Amino acid sequence: MNELYSFTIKEASEKLASGEITSERLTEAIFERIEEIDSKVGAYITLCKEKALEMARESDLRRKNGATLSEIDGIPVAVKDLFLTKGVRTTAASNILNDFVPIYESTVTRKLWEAGAVLIGKTNLDQFAMGSSTETSAYNTATDFDSTTRNPWDLDRIPGGSSGGSAAAVAADLCVAAIGTDTGGSIRQPASLCSITGLKPTYGRVSRYGTIAMASSLDQAGPMTKTVEDAAILLNIISGYDKFDSTSSDKPIPNYCEKLKVKSLKSMRIGVSAEFFGEGLDSEVEAVVRNAISEFEKLGAKIVPVSLPMVHYALAVYYILMPAEVSSNLARYDGIRFGHSVLKSKSESQMSKAESLEDVYNLSREEGFGAETKRRIMLGSYVLSAGYYDAYYKKAQRVRTLIKAEFEKIFEEVDLLATPVSPTLPFKFGEKSADPLSMYLSDIMTVPVNPAGLPAISIPAGFVEKDDKSLPVGLQLIGPMWSEETILMAGHTFQQSTDWHKRKPEIQ
Ligand code: GLN
Repeated sequence: MNELYSFTIKEASEKLASGEITSERLTEAIFERIEEIDSKVGAYITLCKEKALEMARESDLRRKNGATLSEIDGIPVAVKDLFLTKGVRTTAASNILNDFVPIYESTVTRKLWEAGAVLIGKTNLDQFAMGSSTETSAYNTATDFDSTTRNPWDLDRIPGGSSGGSAAAVAADLCVAAIGTDTGGSIRQPASLCSITGLKPTYGRVSRYGTIAMASSLDQAGPMTKTVEDAAILLNIISGYDKFDSTSSDKPIPNYCEKLKVKSLKSMRIGVSAEFFGEGLDSEVEAVVRNAISEFEKLGAKIVPVSLPMVHYALAVYYILMPAEVSSNLARYDGIRFGHSVLKSKSESQMSKAESLEDVYNLSREEGFGAETKRRIMLGSYVLSAGYYDAYYKKAQRVRTLIKAEFEKIFEEVDLLATPVSPTLPFKFGEKSADPLSMYLSDIMTVPVNPAGLPAISIPAGFVEKDDKSLPVGLQLIGPMWSEETILMAGHTFQQSTDWHKRKPEIQ
């Protein structure tokens, strides 16, 4: 038998159902693994061992009593520290929420606990989900106070971001599955760089209630898992209309596991757009991605060359609209209502500087926010300011409409698009953090999806050998709105005939 901690949701739920294992034993195995290697990986900000074991025992009791159980009952999951968890510290990896303990639960996590999942802990991320490497986190991690999150495939490299902690936790078997959020790629890019499966659902499929907002018109939560099948299982649980989120959709939720059984890509048309294979794409990454695309062809799909010229503008549009929304969403952190306040500052001199209410706001924000967060608040305030609103914000909104229209048109010709996820391999710490523009460029393949509200997945597509390490490469499948079933079916079929997703990193 494999080590308990290495199970997928599917495998663990079958073993739980047959009585071969208990949720308590499985949860203990995960914590033993965390104690053994999370000091190296650093996936978690907060661990909830006691609570987890209690939740696991409750699940075992439900099972013993013959209750009807969901497929994730008793399954240990990790949650990005951006979801409010009642009574469990939630930081958004920012000092401004350092001691923030939510008084209510996000809809996504509420659904997980109602379905019986076990909370292992809260994972590290880029501060307020702003970043592509998890380096903007204000925190060192729960099990190694000197270190941030590392890529399990090469501990000298970043795990991607912003959901880097969740991706590393799944890749290193520090949980069975995880939840992340994606505003411009934060589920897909770390999934790609850590060789796991990450799905960003259609905007509105999953409620945003209780998820700390970055850019509300782009944010979407989704599963980060060991297989596509597990992503389908989690999506079944977390999807659906929520009266607390007016942008959530009441479209019926299909059973996302049903269509996985199809297993033939015979009538599928997959578009390959030259715009995603241009300048800036590493040739090694390109080779792996093209190879994976030819695998889809072998499975029966028809590969269709397409052109998406508007995609060139997506990154520019994103880096105008996203900061605009960030500047508005982060206005609420004022040193009065949540978390850090200069009035509670450790430094006497800072505290004495606060002579007015406005000083309290300004000084609390100065102390609480990190550099990247401040940069985006300033960019956002600038593009929304009276003199520049038309030139930047309004224009970007117009181009957003054009990007969306272009995708809609392409999806009349093809069912899905196949693209790279990250233009480069996982990079070394510090390689891009000093230069925000080069960091922003790492989002170029994932960002176009969010302004258009589309669903997209990253699946493991292969490896490049470098410095004696195997470095992961992911493939992205993008579909029209509400096409999660097709995306999952295609990804699952690929995973039935490849074993990239089964490879495990050797953590040294
Ligand atoms: N890397 C992107 C950014 O920094 C995406 C972040 C996200 O999806 N949360 O904005």
